[in-house]
Amino acid sequence: MIDLLKRLGLNTYNVDKKSHIEVNTDICLTCKDKPCIVSCPAGTYEADKDGRIIVHYERCLECGGALVICPYHAIKFHFPENGVSYRYG
Ligand code: SF4
Repeated sequence: MIDLLKRLGLNTYNVDKKSHIEVNTDICLTCKDKPCIVSCPAGTYEADKDGRIIVHYERCLECGGALVICPYHAIKFHFPENGVSYRYG
């Protein structure tokens, strides 16, 4: 039987050309703790040296966690074309 890592390595992804995540980075400047960064298991959110969020949308697992944890509703999200489109799980 093939092990898990080898099986995961067989997955392929079609990444959209356009991001399915938009962040109001002006709001992020006032967000001290930036919980989106630590809550995302895929490392989708990163802060630049000024404190603005950079989105690596191609890493997104579509769990919706950042939408829930963002205290300022600064994230706009829609399910990507060809995404897995999880709904509650
Ligand atoms: S949690 Fe929301 S407001 Fe704070 S840095 Fe992340 S996206 Fe910006």
